[in-house]
Amino acid sequence: MESGTPDRPADPERDEFDPDEVAALALARDRVLERIERASRRAGRDPGEVRLIAVSKTVPAERLRAAVAAGLTQLGENRVQEAVAKAPLVPGASWHLIGPLQSNKVRLAVETFSTVETVDGTDLAARLDRIAGEVRPGRRLPVLLQVNVDADPAKAGFDADVLREAMPQFGDLRNLEMRGLMTVGRFAVTAEAARPTFVALRRLSERLRAVSPALGGELSMGMSDDFEVAVEEGATTVRIGRTLFGARPDAGG
Ligand SMILES: *Cc1c(COP(=O)(O)O)cnc(C)c1O
Repeated sequence: MESGTPDRPADPERDEFDPDEVAALALARDRVLERIERASRRAGRDPGEVRLIAVSKTVPAERLRAAVAAGLTQLGENRVQEAVAKAPLVPGASWHLIGPLQSNKVRLAVETFSTVETVDGTDLAARLDRIAGEVRPGRRLPVLLQVNVDADPAKAGFDADVLREAMPQFGDLRNLEMRGLMTVGRFAVTAEAARPTFVALRRLSERLRAVSPALGGELSMGMSDDFEVAVEEGATTVRIGRTLFGARPDAGG
């Protein structure tokens, strides 16, 4: 796994984690789960319907072992290579791809991630389908279709109208399981300002599912600054980084 150090003796530290870190991350997790629970209740929803993805980009593997011990077992990464490097060092985690997927990384992604949340084109979907059939025959790969509901030129994702027209093509992709939709909201100064984006994704999901029942009802939406509003509007997955792990070293994605 580690290149360049074939003769390195087994290092017990590699499989360990810092107990203080586990306690701190367990507390952060409890607080987020409480906030999800309160937002769910406000909307008359069952909090058990909301999956927490801990967005672990830039967080080193050692700290992620503590996160898994603290119950944060579903991790989200936006770079394929970073997840490929960390995954063998973090037993017990499952990985969601939440960043752009280039066609030359599809095989690595299928080998590493349990779910690809960022299918944003029909060519990418077809390629994922083909490679999933090779890498994991008989086990369909769960995917979400990423939608740019705000038509924000800075964001990836299907245009809603394009997606509507493309839906019939997905019916042939036997190695993918279309679990639902994902969006990255536009930058909003307040959480409330993100609400129209979340409402739009939910309504789009309802319209698409009325004509394409194979599309699942998952809605991955909401991040640190706006996840409670997302839960109020029907999120089934929230993707939270900074509120769990603290500020990232750089402000970038
Ligand atoms: C970084 C990232 C997140 C998490 O953002 P935070 O503000 O740290 O909670 C969620 N979704 C995507 C797609 C991201 O890139």
